[in-house]
Amino acid sequence: MDFAFTEEQSMIAELARDFAKKEIAPHIEEDEENHYYRREILTKMGELGLLGFSIPEEYGGNGLGWMEGVAALYEIAKVHTSWRLSISGNIWGPALSILEFGTEEQKRKYIPGLCSGELAGSFAITEANSGSDVASMKMVAKDCGDYWLLNGTKMWISGGHTCDVGLVYAKTDPNAGAKGISCFIIDYNNTEGITRNPIHKKVGMWPAPTSELVFEDVKIPKENLLGVQNKGFQQCMWMLNNTRMGCATGAAALSAAALEGAVQYANERTQFGQAIGKFQMIQYQIAEMKLEDEAAKWLVYKAAWLKENKMPSQQATSMAKLFACNAAVHAANLAMKIYGSYGYSDEYPCGRWLRDAKQFETLEGTSNIHMGIVAGIELGYQPDR
Ligand SMILES: Cc1cc2nc3c(=O)[nH]c(=O)nc-3n(C[C@H](O)[C@H](O)[C@H](O)COP(=O)(O)OP(=O)(O)OC[C@H]3O[C@@H](n4cnc5c(N)ncnc54)[C@H](O)[C@@H]3O)c2cc1C
Repeated sequence: MDFAFTEEQSMIAELARDFAKKEIAPHIEEDEENHYYRREILTKMGELGLLGFSIPEEYGGNGLGWMEGVAALYEIAKVHTSWRLSISGNIWGPALSILEFGTEEQKRKYIPGLCSGELAGSFAITEANSGSDVASMKMVAKDCGDYWLLNGTKMWISGGHTCDVGLVYAKTDPNAGAKGISCFIIDYNNTEGITRNPIHKKVGMWPAPTSELVFEDVKIPKENLLGVQNKGFQQCMWMLNNTRMGCATGAAALSAAALEGAVQYANERTQFGQAIGKFQMIQYQIAEMKLEDEAAKWLVYKAAWLKENKMPSQQATSMAKLFACNAAVHAANLAMKIYGSYGYSDEYPCGRWLRDAKQFETLEGTSNIHMGIVAGIELGYQPDR
């Protein structure tokens, strides 16, 4: 048992920390205000090798694994959680799925670009009336002999209108429920019939684009089916078990950022002639934040370690996501209290932490859904995968 980073993991964490400090931090206020997605951050991450985690070098990956990926994403998300999506939206979503289920041609065509940042990725499961109940999706992909014909609308898709390539899940057998879903690779820049509408009015995650994707008689080449026809539901659950690490790590990082900020503020701010950190009630709040932050971090690394060692990780991933999400929301809430009125202004990041923390309770499986997974595996109702 070893709780320390290897030298390589420390170097990756430091590289990501420096990158976030130099390339993300200076633009936070401007990008928050303008809800601006700064594409060059993705490109620069690719250039530095900060994208291709868990992807073999022959496909443009950096040859590093889950532990290093989590270490890097943590540092990026600690500065701004929106940018965690560059790793999960490009790599742990599409690239890993193509690596696992794709043909050799698909791997060579898409994975290197997703690793280098030349391509921005996405994955589209959710629809207006199909969220937690993935199998109820309505988008249809009809086999038309030479091509697939896609019709339907996806909703709440991260990077939907800014991506170049993405996975889309659709029904290839509309009457078969979960057994009738397939996955398709979409080349957004070279495909007609897709309208991509930005969703502007979100509570948080302002520099991270979110979109509605309308597919009207969209012809997709036969060779863009990913994996096995009608096995898309299993492929989707496999993918979510990876991308949820992005949420879990991002939430743990946000909790750490709020704790760090609150500690600094509690030491600087004086009332009644002393630093507010000297008051027992502030100490209680800091202690709560620290406990939850520490536990969240180790749950995240435990899940990453299981993945690294190719062991069942679904329950660990759900626990990490669930706990880190609660820790992030609680920490952001406490930070705002500790900062007093200044926390309620935009002079400090408390408002952003709170807005951004709330996303984790919903996306990639709501907290209720993760409770169900944790309990279901524990009770023996479903296997851990
Ligand atoms: C910022 C943002 C980015 C997103 N990015 C993506 C993306 O990139 N790709 C994508 O496909 N989707 C994305 N989503 C969608 C997200 O994954 C879904 O919103 C999420 O799965 C929940 O679905 P829903 O909103 O329809 O809620 P619903 O499923 O309608 O749930 C509503 C409420 O009912 C509860 N509930 C539902 N079923 C159960 C149950 N069985 N047991 C107990 N409680 C239940 C839920 O916990 C929740 O509290 C994103 C969402 C947001 C907000």
